Amino acid sequence: MTKKSITIIGAGMAGLSAAYELHKAGWDVTVLEARSRVGGRVFSLHEFSDGLVAEGGGEFIDHRHKRMLALAKEFNLTLGSLGGWHAESGDWGLFRNKAGLLSDEKIWGANLEDEYHKMWVELSKLGKLVNDPSNPQTASNAKELDAKNVAEWIQSQNVHPIAKDLFVCHIRAEFTCEPEDFSFLDFARNASLFYSDPEEDKPNYRIIGGNDLLPKAIANALPDVRMNTVVESIKIQGNGVTVKYKQVDSFHTLRSDFAILAVPLTVARLIDFNSSLPVAHQKLVDEISYGAVTKVLVEYRKQFWKEIGWNGRLYTDEPIVMTWGATNHIEHDHGIITAYTGGKPGAELSKLSDTERIKTAVSVIEKAFPGSSDLIENTATVAWINEPFTRSSYMALSPNQVTEHWQTLFTPAGRLYFAGEHASPIQGYMEGAVESGQRVAKEIIGKS
Ligand SMILES: Cc1cc2nc3c(=O)[nH]c(=O)nc-3n(C[C@H](O)[C@H](O)[C@H](O)COP(=O)(O)OP(=O)(O)OC[C@H]3O[C@@H](n4cnc5c(N)ncnc54)[C@H](O)[C@@H]3O)c2cc1C
Repeated sequence: MTKKSITIIGAGMAGLSAAYELHKAGWDVTVLEARSRVGGRVFSLHEFSDGLVAEGGGEFIDHRHKRMLALAKEFNLTLGSLGGWHAESGDWGLFRNKAGLLSDEKIWGANLEDEYHKMWVELSKLGKLVNDPSNPQTASNAKELDAKNVAEWIQSQNVHPIAKDLFVCHIRAEFTCEPEDFSFLDFARNASLFYSDPEEDKPNYRIIGGNDLLPKAIANALPDVRMNTVVESIKIQGNGVTVKYKQVDSFHTLRSDFAILAVPLTVARLIDFNSSLPVAHQKLVDEISYGAVTKVLVEYRKQFWKEIGWNGRLYTDEPIVMTWGATNHIEHDHGIITAYTGGKPGAELSKLSDTERIKTAVSVIEKAFPGSSDLIENTATVAWINEPFTRSSYMALSPNQVTEHWQTLFTPAGRLYFAGEHASPIQGYMEGAVESGQRVAKEIIGKS
């Protein structure tokens, strides 16, 4: 019997996870990757510092992300625990030109940690609006909820005004969009999946040595991963899929029984589907909303934050949204603070040159912690909307988009399947990418 063949476009966590499952099932698998590296939005900076690896993209592996944890174990990678998000006290705020611990009532006139927590308690109640987070379009009042945005919910909360600003930071950081541009139905869906217990605080992990060790290990287990190959055209036919790609200066055609498109839809927009994509899929590709995000990584010669009772997390209403201590889990004199900026501020920062973006982030940290700039050893930055093979952060559904597009995200276009963080209920995470890749692989194996 001849082997069934499949072309997988994109060697991020989604494409690689699908390829790995199909390869194990005996398929003839070819992976086409536009960049000269695998991993996509998992991008570890190994040369950044002497002894510390920074993550330019996907960073935290949540304790519930069982597929990522299982793959790390299967490939013998070591996980470093960062503890629970709230276990370390010492969150700071820089709002309205004042800086200090969120819990410092003298600065803010209230304990902002407590005020902010009240919003998380309210958020935990929203989950019950969506019974099945994998099928939010089936929720009662789905259309009505989808037409609303999250800004209205934030403003309706009876809390200190800066607690609302803190929640805006949360939306900009976690979902990388503006609350006005975020579907309330998708927000409630996320509440149902992740935020049902406001007290839960289990550890997050990172792969010691860099998260990219995982995509590299999976790619090494595959026989045919072609780098620097940019897919420019896809034609879906009754009994197969034809893909045309450019590798450096030469053009190639590859025909296979099935194909998986595992690229962000922001770059899928540039692919010519030769009118073979169903109308609903083409509309999805053209219209679906994505966020914007930048990271600025700052290596300091000493982890000064540990000396002053700051855990590394600073929320701001300045040009950066928040920071965290990226290396708090590692014993080292030096340490890295990540400045993370999504939503409108993320789009604004993306317009700056790398030097200007770094300068801006450093100056915000300096404003809260005067003198900290003198301790800087290295800096680096990534603005993901400027990356030609990403052009976004991750999917962030706008009002009305859940009811219009959700089902299409999970429906194959003939013999072309969609994978990627966007095609998973665990959207915006490495886990979602893996879930989607494993799911479509199983569906395709089941079909043949
Ligand atoms: C700044 C940032 C921080 C994040 N933080 C976290 C986090 O802490 N925890 C977490 O779980 N997730 C995080 N994420 C999200 C996570 O990184 C992504 O959800 C996940 O890596 C997406 O994987 P993917 O396979 O869907 O897509 P990608 O990783 O984008 O892979 C798609 C691949 O397709 C390739 N490609 C694109 N166009 C073409 C083409 N025409 N032809 C061939 N190949 C092409 C790309 O080069 C890329 O390698 C973060 C993301 C960003 C940007």
